[in-house]
Amino acid sequence: MILKLVLFAVAALLIYKWLGGSVSLPKAKPKRRSKGKPSVKDAEMVECDECGIYVSIEETTLVNGKYICEDCLNKEKAR
Ligand SMILES: [Zn+2]
Repeated sequence: MILKLVLFAVAALLIYKWLGGSVSLPKAKPKRRSKGKPSVKDAEMVECDECGIYVSIEETTLVNGKYICEDCLNKEKAR
């Protein structure tokens, strides 16, 4: 009877240690999927006033109330 209890205790201890080891490992690795651009869904698409292509609002520059894409902005500077 006592032997069974000891075996049970040892088994429980092993399972506890095994679980403790496997549970604590994932904590070291956060489950975040962010790859630098967390707000891609929030990126609004706007039409470039110069060339008319749609680009994300983050890639445009507001010039005189108009959205200008980077390509046109570079062309504008080149002029
Ligand atoms: Zn443009």
